[in-house]
Amino acid sequence: MAFGEKLRDAIDRIKNSMHVDKDLIKEVIKEIQRALITSDVNIQLVLKISQEIEKEAFEEIPDGVTRKEHLVKTCYNVILKYIGGDEEKKLNENPERMLLCGLFGSGKTTTASKLAKFYKKRGLKVGLICADVYRPAAYEQLEQLSKQVDVLFYGDPKEMSAKKVTEKGMEFLKKQGANLIIVDSAGRSALDNELVQELKEIYSVFNPEYSFLVISADIGQAAKDQSENFNKAVGIQGVIITKLDGSAKGGGAITACYITKSPIFFIGTGEKADDFEIFDANRYLSRILGFGDIQSLLEKIHELSEDEDFEGMKDLNPEDILKGNFNFALFKQQIDAARKLGPFTKIMGMLGIGGKLSADQMNIGEKKIKKYRVILDSFTKEELNCDETSFITSSRIKRIAKGSGTTQEDVKELIAHVKKMKKMFKAVGGKKAMTMQKMLGKSGMDFSKLEGMDPKQIQEMAKQMKIR
Ligand code: GDP
Ligand code: MG
Repeated sequence: MAFGEKLRDAIDRIKNSMHVDKDLIKEVIKEIQRALITSDVNIQLVLKISQEIEKEAFEEIPDGVTRKEHLVKTCYNVILKYIGGDEEKKLNENPERMLLCGLFGSGKTTTASKLAKFYKKRGLKVGLICADVYRPAAYEQLEQLSKQVDVLFYGDPKEMSAKKVTEKGMEFLKKQGANLIIVDSAGRSALDNELVQELKEIYSVFNPEYSFLVISADIGQAAKDQSENFNKAVGIQGVIITKLDGSAKGGGAITACYITKSPIFFIGTGEKADDFEIFDANRYLSRILGFGDIQSLLEKIHELSEDEDFEGMKDLNPEDILKGNFNFALFKQQIDAARKLGPFTKIMGMLGIGGKLSADQMNIGEKKIKKYRVILDSFTKEELNCDETSFITSSRIKRIAKGSGTTQEDVKELIAHVKKMKKMFKAVGGKKAMTMQKMLGKSGMDFSKLEGMDPKQIQEMAKQMKIR
């Protein structure tokens, strides 16, 4: 079982418990420990994390938060902290010098070309230097990859000093107008003195703005020593995890972050240049925990404790919806209410677009909601409050599309969506429909399923979902 699943089990235990007491907290902490250990997080670090959770869990809980919520939030926040959720440590937008280090096979050379492509797309002129002077194949590999992503390259198969290659490379690439230079260093199967010496020499001439430690997700318990040694040699400012597409547990990365006191900045998810993502600790944790995000988790808890009204919906007037008058204005209000709660993942669940989505789908959904919101700004008051969606005639659609800088198809899609929601609200009425909407979203089901159903069927469905 993967790290995320185990962690999720522990969190589920909190969620499903009747009340939180000392025993439950201890049990949950044990489960989190197990999840971390079997994912190859360093043992001492596991203890540190769990002690922190325990300490905070027993602390006085803030007003307006239940003990359950507090415990879930504590678990989430502490783990988040250790995978680099520190907002302040952001990458400079126009980095100038990056050094990649890591053991042989960790994915440095591949990552060098991925980074090059990434920053090239952001408008930088990137140059790569092959400072792996031992293997002629290393030179050829990086030269080839540079060509593939179409960036500048420097290497000299005859030069046996990594320091000299770096010096010459910097001069050459600067002349060519490069404003970001990335040095790919050699790696052995172990970090020996020679490699440390060489990295220090490269460091002295290159003076990297960022030294990245490139580690493979399957590194396991070796992460601790490696991170310590590379950190000593060149001072690591960031971690890049590769091969996260595989079955690896990835716990070593948490160790690496902790040891080097630096966040994970990027992740590699495949062999191709595009299999590369900015790492977003929040999103990652949400994803592995299988929840939209912490907010939707808390929302679930709210649902379980039933009579608690769902926060974000307070701005909405259920009376309006009860009357069966769901319209564009309410949809707009709903988006705005939801947005106050944070990340989009959750909102999509609420709006019936979410469910179990992949990162890609999530991006699409996120964009969609943003687009809907923009489109709604081009509605007139009359249009927002119209009773029937058919009021938005094709000439209105044309105007709205133009006014919002979208296409007529986009506007039609929004109309169709609201129409489906309207239908559901009509069939089961205000509050029930809201709960159902959320549940549908979570189950990954979308409103198109409702299209062919008659109101009776929809009511039946609500009954089955035990929405009263
Ligand atoms: P280096 O020795 O550190 O320079 O490692 P390389 O960049 O040469 O990569 C070693 C192997 O790992 C190559 O076969 C790469 O294609 C592969 N690789 C690198 N990054 C990834 C990744 O994110 N996912 C997968 N599946 N393979 C990767
Ligand atoms: Mg290499």
